[in-house]
Amino acid sequence: MDNDLTFCQMPLDRASTLRKSNTWLQEKLSAVDSRFYFYWRGNYLYIEEKICVFTEKCTVDTDVDFSKTLAFTDVITRSPITFLGTNEDVAHFVCDLSLMTDIEITPWLGKVAFDKVEFIDFRRSLSLLNPQQAAIISYAKALIHWQKSALFCGHCGGKTKPMDGGHRLVCENDSCQKEHFPRTDPVVIMLVEYQPKSGPAVCLLAEHHRTPEQVYSTLAGFVDPGESLQEAVKREVYEEAGVTVSSVSFIDSQPWPFPNSLMIGFIAQAQGMDLCLEEAELRSAGWFTAQQLADFSEWGDEGDAPKLPRKESISRLLIDLWCERQLRIADNALSLDTV
Ligand SMILES: [Zn+2]
Repeated sequence: MDNDLTFCQMPLDRASTLRKSNTWLQEKLSAVDSRFYFYWRGNYLYIEEKICVFTEKCTVDTDVDFSKTLAFTDVITRSPITFLGTNEDVAHFVCDLSLMTDIEITPWLGKVAFDKVEFIDFRRSLSLLNPQQAAIISYAKALIHWQKSALFCGHCGGKTKPMDGGHRLVCENDSCQKEHFPRTDPVVIMLVEYQPKSGPAVCLLAEHHRTPEQVYSTLAGFVDPGESLQEAVKREVYEEAGVTVSSVSFIDSQPWPFPNSLMIGFIAQAQGMDLCLEEAELRSAGWFTAQQLADFSEWGDEGDAPKLPRKESISRLLIDLWCERQLRIADNALSLDTV
């Protein structure tokens, strides 16, 4: 099923076969319409709060002639560049300026020669982006994060060099030559529901120590080695809440670039309502009906009322889907009663 979640609307063709050709990549690097995003230490370059996408001729979003500035040619030949993909044959790249120090980056920003030029933190900048842009720069951030964690071969300690436009790292040690590929960490995230013998169904939500107080979201956890996704759901729910679940059903997934996870969403059926919380993970937890959740505030609202998680998260998608289904069941029951 397609969803509207943040990071799920990638407009680029990753061109995973074409990017293996160095000749093709070099042609795209020098093509006048190729687009370049600029990344520096967890931040992206913005001009007047628009994500800055440079081509050799202009900044696409501001439509200002960029060829008059030195900034582009100054860094494009000496900073790591990763190929992201193509859109209608136009190649997109991310240029990582993170090797530049605080002292070097400020004068470079001056060379960009526009007003209101700044680097904005990736997470903070998401509200300035459309869903397609958010998908592109989160993908770029995840790739850069992986490249930085694999500068040296985990097998022999030798230096690695980027291949395939930055999607494969190869050990430079001739006696090793081990290949390293981008890493994605699978995380199961699950809405646990319980249907009492009488009355409406309830779902289990928890306050996590990692989120602000009074924000109630679904349980989640990393998949262990040698574990199926369904096993991970059952283990995590038992470890965190002391609840045994069955009937684990996949609902949807979402890449989550903090730093490079894949959230895999499920709904599972609880066998009972008794809770035994893992206090190191959870501040509190409780069972809620859809009617109660309808009265919750939104993430970021003022006040002490309980709140739902961010709208762009898969946790919120699971909660919204469950609530819609429960309200539909309640409506059907009501219409049957009135027949
Ligand atoms: Zn090696």
